[in-house]
Amino acid sequence: MMLETVAKAVEKGTGLNGLIFDIQSYSVHDGPGCRTSVFFAGCPLQCRWCANPESWLKKKHIMFADRMCKWDKGCSACRSICPHGSIQFDAFGKPSIDWATCMKCETYDCVEICPNNAFKQCVKDYSVDELIGILRRDFSNWGPEGGVTFTGGEPLMHHEFLVEVLKRCRQLQIHTAIETSAFTTEEKFLDVMNYMHFAFIDIKNMDAEKHKEKTGVSNERILSNIRALRKSGWKGRLVLRQPTIAGYNDSFENARKIIEFMNDTGFYEINLLKFHRLGTTKWNQLGKAYDYSDHGDMSEEKLTRLQRLYLDNNIACYIGDNTPF
Ligand code: SF4
Ligand code: SF4
Repeated sequence: MMLETVAKAVEKGTGLNGLIFDIQSYSVHDGPGCRTSVFFAGCPLQCRWCANPESWLKKKHIMFADRMCKWDKGCSACRSICPHGSIQFDAFGKPSIDWATCMKCETYDCVEICPNNAFKQCVKDYSVDELIGILRRDFSNWGPEGGVTFTGGEPLMHHEFLVEVLKRCRQLQIHTAIETSAFTTEEKFLDVMNYMHFAFIDIKNMDAEKHKEKTGVSNERILSNIRALRKSGWKGRLVLRQPTIAGYNDSFENARKIIEFMNDTGFYEINLLKFHRLGTTKWNQLGKAYDYSDHGDMSEEKLTRLQRLYLDNNIACYIGDNTPF
C-alpha cells in the first residue's frame, strides 16, 4: 500500500508530547540504511564520558556558548533580560550563567535576545502528529533499508509517547530501531521492543560496581531486561554496543564476561565504539566539568585484539562504523 494511502487511514491526535533535543535526517550510523534519528531528552544514566550531556535532563533548558558571545565588542543585550537574574556580568562586562537558578526557567527569554546565538534552547516539545509529520517528510530519503532510529538520552523515558509513535510507524510500515540503555522496568522495555525491528543496547561494564561508579546505576536491570527480551521471543535484530574506554572496560576479563552473557542469551553481534571526546564543548556549554577531557584514546591494536577474542568465540564483532548495517 502506498504511504499516502496508509497515512490517511492512521488515527491522529493523542494529546501526548515528547521532549526531544535533536532530529537528524540522513543518519547512516544508527542502524540499517539511511535513517532519521530522533534524540529524546532525559536519561536515567549519567555516563561520565557522555558525548550528549544536553540529553540528561527530561526538561527544557539552555546551553550557553561563550565563544559566540561578543561582550568584548560591546554587546550587553542580555543584561536585563533574565527574569531569574541568572545572567551575571563580571567587572569587564563578560556574562556567565548561574546554572542553579537557570534550570528553573520556563520562558527562555535569553534565546531570542542574543544577536549572536550564544544561547541555545536545546530541548523542545513534539506531539505525536508533529513527529510523524517529520518522518513522513523524510520517508523518501531512506531507501529500502532505512527508517527511524529512536535514541537520546533514553527513549524509554518517554514510554507512553514512544509507543504511540511506534503504533503509527507500524501502520505506516516504517522500519524502527532504538538505541537504548535498557534501563527501565521489564514491562515498559518489552512493550516498546514489541514494535522494534532493530536495537542497539549498551553494555558499559559487566562488573555491577564499576558500572555504577561511572554511570550512576547498576547493570543488573539492563542485563535482566536483555535476558527477558530473549525469552519473550522477540523477532528483531539486536546488536550490543560497548563504548570502549581505556582503563575502564577494555579488559579481556570484561570481554570474556560479555561473551559468556551473549552465549547465555543467544545474541551474537557486538559493536565496539572507540571512545572520543567530541562532547567536550557541550559539557562546557552546560557549565559541567568533564572528567574525560584528557582521557587517553583506545589503541587500534587493543581494539583489534578484543575483536579477535569475540570472533574466536563465534561472536560477530564490529569496530566503530565498520559494520554491515
Ligand atoms: S546578548 Fe549574546 S552576545 Fe550579547 S552579551 Fe549577551 S550572550 Fe553575549
Ligand atoms: S534560560 Fe531563562 S533563567 Fe536561564 S539565562 Fe535564559 S532567561 Fe535566564
